[in-house]
Amino acid sequence: MIVTKQKELDYLLKSIANKPVFIIGCSECATLCHTGGEEEVVAMKKILEEKDIKVTGWVILEPACHLQNNKRILRGYKEEIKDADKILVLACGNGVQAVSEVLEDKDVISGTDTLFLGEIKHLGDFERRCDLCGDCIQDLFFGLCPIARCPKHMLNGPCGGSRNGKCEVYHDMDCVWDLIIKKMQRRGELDRLKRIRMAKDWSKSNEMQVVL
Ligand code: SF4
Ligand code: SF4
Repeated sequence: MIVTKQKELDYLLKSIANKPVFIIGCSECATLCHTGGEEEVVAMKKILEEKDIKVTGWVILEPACHLQNNKRILRGYKEEIKDADKILVLACGNGVQAVSEVLEDKDVISGTDTLFLGEIKHLGDFERRCDLCGDCIQDLFFGLCPIARCPKHMLNGPCGGSRNGKCEVYHDMDCVWDLIIKKMQRRGELDRLKRIRMAKDWSKSNEMQVVL
């Protein structure tokens, strides 16, 4: 799922600038992340109204990144959207852009920061698993991704800074290379470390391209 974090309220208030606002949430990832589901949208409405900001309405899109659904659903909120100067979207960056595409004459505010593609460990506890690099090499590492899970993107072994299985950059995080090596040991395949991996071909990352 796409993991998001709600932006600071002060930032949102500055962007809204006391103007009437329509709030949009998302039924999928933002709901699971508790950043833009019905609960959070209703809570945001309450917070804004307590600050004397007019909320003209709200809706949860299904999901916010689905352009055609957005067109259909938002048609039902024409009046509420017309009355709003600002559209606050509590969804991922893709959702925000899919809303902007439909409401192109409106001032659309992103209410969240989009962080990464993550695994749900427990409710509300997400771990980074994929950076959408466009050239998946995790099969070389027993399904453990050194691109998304190592801050240095080490491809040929650990950087040497790991202590007690934790990363030297983010001390709460498992060193993915510690995990990879333990898995290699369990499988009797430590020899794999002898194979030098060349720098990854980042031209395949599609960072600036549309992926078809
Ligand atoms: S190698 Fe790339 S595509 Fe594969 S999991 Fe890692 S970041 Fe994602
Ligand atoms: S300690 Fe491990 S995860 Fe952290 S930067 Fe070094 S190799 Fe990567």
